[in-house]
Amino acid sequence: MASPTLVNLLNFNQAQLAEYFTGIGEKPFRAKQMMRWMHHFGILELDQMTDIAKVLREKLRQQASFTLPEVQLEQISDDGTRKWLIGTDTANSIETVFIPEDDRGTLCISSQVGCALECTFCSTGRQGFNRNLSVSEIIGQLWIANQSLRQAEGYNQLFASDRIISNVVMMGMGEPLANYDNVVTAMQIMLDDSAYGLSRRRVTLSTSGLVPAMDKLKEDCPVALAVSLHAPNDALRDEIVPINKKYPIKALMAACERYLVKAPRDFVTFEYVMLDGINDSLTHAQQLLEVVRDIPCKFNLIPFNPFPNSGYGTSHPMQVRAFRDHLMQAGYVVTVRKTRGDDIDAACGQLAGKVLDKTKRTQKTISIQAAS
Ligand code: SAH
Ligand code: SF4
Repeated sequence: MASPTLVNLLNFNQAQLAEYFTGIGEKPFRAKQMMRWMHHFGILELDQMTDIAKVLREKLRQQASFTLPEVQLEQISDDGTRKWLIGTDTANSIETVFIPEDDRGTLCISSQVGCALECTFCSTGRQGFNRNLSVSEIIGQLWIANQSLRQAEGYNQLFASDRIISNVVMMGMGEPLANYDNVVTAMQIMLDDSAYGLSRRRVTLSTSGLVPAMDKLKEDCPVALAVSLHAPNDALRDEIVPINKKYPIKALMAACERYLVKAPRDFVTFEYVMLDGINDSLTHAQQLLEVVRDIPCKFNLIPFNPFPNSGYGTSHPMQVRAFRDHLMQAGYVVTVRKTRGDDIDAACGQLAGKVLDKTKRTQKTISIQAAS
């Protein structure tokens, strides 16, 4: 953990870093140099930062740190998917997943230790909530994965201009919009040309639908948007995505429409987990078409990934196909998410890490089960 007296420079975007340098009597252009060393080259050793004046390096040694979360375990699946278990403090850990495909490499990043939103089919939601991740813990996941993949591919750190990670999805543990400031700062670092230089179109934030934060995001840092819809009517969505009681479907759809005015892509992706016998009938598919009627969108159907005591089943592949075909016949682009990294539990909704639950939800669930 960072010493409380040292300032962790990995917590800053370029503008904040410039402010920091000005504050210690240095020129703001140092921020750009420092961003390049830390994030573009992945170098955190002051001695290797050759264009930073020696006196400044000495000053930073006294005042600053480069503190990353600690990798506890790295697993590689038969299909090339990689998963890192990353310790954020002594009691908690989170998970980060890299998914290689022919034309891209996608990193799935966590934003919180646990999640407070209690979607009933989600393993992270079931674990309860501990805390928000800091900027360095969020961007640190990209730093760690980048370095580890470069090493695996035998890249020279200083000449590694080829991108192994071309896409980032904020779809790991947690609700990214519930940790708004830190997530936005981390995404600004992802997009910064001096840091990771990712395209806005290739950074996707997935939300269960926090409407006010969606409105803010479109102004502060518009990236591609995925919305976890999962149900085509309020009665069902209230039950499986409880935040719907606060921001019901109609309000959510209106927020999507507003978001698209500023979005880097001209569509929203609606995610829809396929739960056997719950939300996967053709009547649901038809209702879904009516709900999204005014929104340019694509659908991503996610076969439910089971976890112990989930109480849900995965829809039959035939049912998924019928549901998909119904949407496709109406003219929509529909993808069915392939399950990757099955052998290392790296699929959507299976990321568990270790969450010391502050909400005591786990105990509550166990006592309810014991009583019934
Ligand atoms: N909190 C954000 C992002 C993290 S979850 C959100 O809810 O959008 C990423 C995606 O995985 C969401 O669409 C989520 O609903 C889905 N998901 C959660 N649990 C799942 C499970 N067990 N099987 C399949 N998808 C799941
Ligand atoms: Fe949280 Fe997303 Fe899981 Fe819902 S699906 S509990 S919002 S992580």
